Amino acid sequence: MTKPHPLETRVVSRRFDQPDAHTLAGYLASDGFRALDKALAMAPEAVIEEVKASGLRGRGGAGFPTGLKWSFVPKQSPREKYVLCNADESEPGTCKDRLILEYDPFAIIEGMLIAGHAIGARRGYIYIRGEYRYLLDRMERALAEARAAGYVGKNIRGRGFDFELHAHTGAGAYECGEESALMESLEGKRGIPRLKPPFPAVSGFMGGPTVINNVETLASVPAIILNGGAWFAAFGPPKNGGTRLFCLSGHVRQQGVWELPLGFPLRKLIEDIGGGLRDGARLKAVVPGGSSTPLLPADTAWNIHLDFDSVAKASSFLGSGGVVVLDESTCMVKFALRIMQFYRHESCGWCVPCREGTQWLQTSLTRFHNGGGRAADVDLMKEVSENILGRTFCALGDAAAMPTLSILQHWRQEFLDHLAGKPCPFGARTSAAGAH
Ligand code: SF4
Repeated sequence: MTKPHPLETRVVSRRFDQPDAHTLAGYLASDGFRALDKALAMAPEAVIEEVKASGLRGRGGAGFPTGLKWSFVPKQSPREKYVLCNADESEPGTCKDRLILEYDPFAIIEGMLIAGHAIGARRGYIYIRGEYRYLLDRMERALAEARAAGYVGKNIRGRGFDFELHAHTGAGAYECGEESALMESLEGKRGIPRLKPPFPAVSGFMGGPTVINNVETLASVPAIILNGGAWFAAFGPPKNGGTRLFCLSGHVRQQGVWELPLGFPLRKLIEDIGGGLRDGARLKAVVPGGSSTPLLPADTAWNIHLDFDSVAKASSFLGSGGVVVLDESTCMVKFALRIMQFYRHESCGWCVPCREGTQWLQTSLTRFHNGGGRAADVDLMKEVSENILGRTFCALGDAAAMPTLSILQHWRQEFLDHLAGKPCPFGARTSAAGAH
């Protein structure tokens, strides 16, 4: 359980301090399944319009408008439709969906039931990352309770709505967080991405029209239906509706996960919630949305607001909400290396720019970090990263290239300093910064 911070606005995390919220009795005692009752009394199109009005954008990383995504699913389909929950939370710096799975699993179930009613699906799957296997039991128990009480299965709430729901774990591959790779994995195949189009809304899981949403996205839906899309939208700036969970880590005094309205100032998150930087150090850089997002130098970071559009204007992304704070003692060469080690390890190897590029970048960054870098490699690393960007089957290639390019752009001098033949002048401090 987590206690609320005075600066938080708890919507999706409103049950995080309720000890029994993971049981059906606890969930029902705090508005549980009231949104489903309301949604089942609404036309499916009206449910989609309400979600559109909320301004809810995907909380997994891409930030695509949820209601719009649902509206792409054809009304009539000869194939079965599906709702999938992407619980393959693997982005370094991000650990928020884990809390929802643990403290409020019924909110995910209710959000999926509402999505099923909205798009005309009768079956859903919750795909949980392999490293979260310990949470499978909790989700299975929640599903069993929901099924026994008639919230999952046939003729739900006596309204003629059938919806079956299953939980499934992956085997611990970052790549399976990519929606088409997740579907391949769920079908029992190797988890590599599919060529698009067709997009999942037309041909997804088992070839049927499929909506696939992140855990937090789906868990936000019941509150939106219950209170109205306009209510949710009003928390954030235009086109950035609502609240979201931010995971603060790195060189701050207080690390943790907090729910804040979109548009919340990053400075307030670091200083007023995170307690400022450790040991009175000065800020050097911030990863704004998980390890795949371009880093922001301190002068930009201090003045930015945490919403999709503001962060995009600063040439980065709000991503998965993983905010990693780096102080002035951080060696950016080593940080770039740690990120590249992760993506090189997780590359599925299907496409050449990602497979070969991440390997070469890791080799080159290792040379720089160990004091044996080559002058020509500073520009070559930029060129290689630019040749990965936008040239791979899935976003993992971009995820490796974007932070590297931002580090080369803002901290090029550190690479030149390493060329002076010295080993890393900053010591080993970067390991606290969230890459794993
Ligand atoms: Fe695989 Fe990387 Fe290509 Fe994605 S970008 S398909 S992870 S090789």
